[in-house]
Amino acid sequence: MTTIESKMDLDGATYKTLLESTRAIPWKIDWDTMQFAYIGPQIEELLGWDQSSWATVQDWAERIHPEDRDWAVNFCVAQSKAGIDHEADYRALNKNGDFVWIRDVVHVVRKDNGDVDSLVGFMFDISERKRTEEQLAALRRELEELSFKDGLTGVANRRRFDVVMETEWSNACRNKQPLSVLMLDIDCFKQYNDHYGHLEGDQCLKRVAKLLTVAAKRPRDFVARFGGEEFILILPDTNQSEAYKIASHCRELIASEHIPHKGSDVGKYLTVSIGLNTATPECSDEVIPFIETIDKRMYQAKQRGRNTIVSD
Ligand code: GH3
Ligand code: MG
Ligand code: MG
Repeated sequence: MTTIESKMDLDGATYKTLLESTRAIPWKIDWDTMQFAYIGPQIEELLGWDQSSWATVQDWAERIHPEDRDWAVNFCVAQSKAGIDHEADYRALNKNGDFVWIRDVVHVVRKDNGDVDSLVGFMFDISERKRTEEQLAALRRELEELSFKDGLTGVANRRRFDVVMETEWSNACRNKQPLSVLMLDIDCFKQYNDHYGHLEGDQCLKRVAKLLTVAAKRPRDFVARFGGEEFILILPDTNQSEAYKIASHCRELIASEHIPHKGSDVGKYLTVSIGLNTATPECSDEVIPFIETIDKRMYQAKQRGRNTIVSD
């Protein structure tokens, strides 16, 4: 009777044809000599080095990207010595100096006495997969950035403000440094929209945001859009008088732009009201009352006729 197994027996030539017609590249290394017993001819198409140039394990190691070489060689040798099947992703060097991402899948063949006889495996070209992974990672980074950015003005959004505020509050506690925060609100902005239209209003918000990024010029100074026509500046390691100067600078920068504002109750040009607070917080202090005080001061600035700064 013919068993299924015997029906499936293939002669050596057929095996070879099959192996050499796959996209994966088969290979075999003799463990005692560390020489290639075989590598599929497809290797030449993939990496440019011809089949006969793959003589020893050294040839393999030298054709790995220098940044991946040490770990790939050490990992594969250690796994092989331990007799563990394994796989490794690394960049293989192409003859023309480029590299190709390879997944090397390795099977350890043992002798009857348990010693390692040889390693057999397949190299797969995974460049396409790596490219997709890299594109996905870049997209993820971009999305993350977008989720912290105000879509209209390009400055940080409220979400980002919350994160940075917490961080700077903790820094100020730890380093026992003063922290100042300014809140700016455009005066009579509803009338601005009513007079010039919402699209012009948008352009105006963009201009103001840009000016504020000029005023917040030290590396850790931070500008965010807090909401509608309100912006907020975090000024780490800044005492009250320094913060007042920055607030004045913001007001002057906006005033000197001479942005016409016909509907304003304050004057001919666009103005802002600013609430300011400074603290050298204890670690037990809460952020929320600190921000509420700024809000109150902003309200006072409005009550005092707008276009002004309230800092205490
Ligand atoms: P005050 O001087 O007291 O601050 O008065 P105000 O008119 O500036 O304040 P109010 O809160 O009454 O109005 C804010 C206006 O800001 C109303 C709203 O339509 C406008 N606004 C909020 N977000 C945007 C936006 O993204 N684009 C535009 N164009 N306008 C916006
Ligand atoms: Mg407002
Ligand atoms: Mg306003």
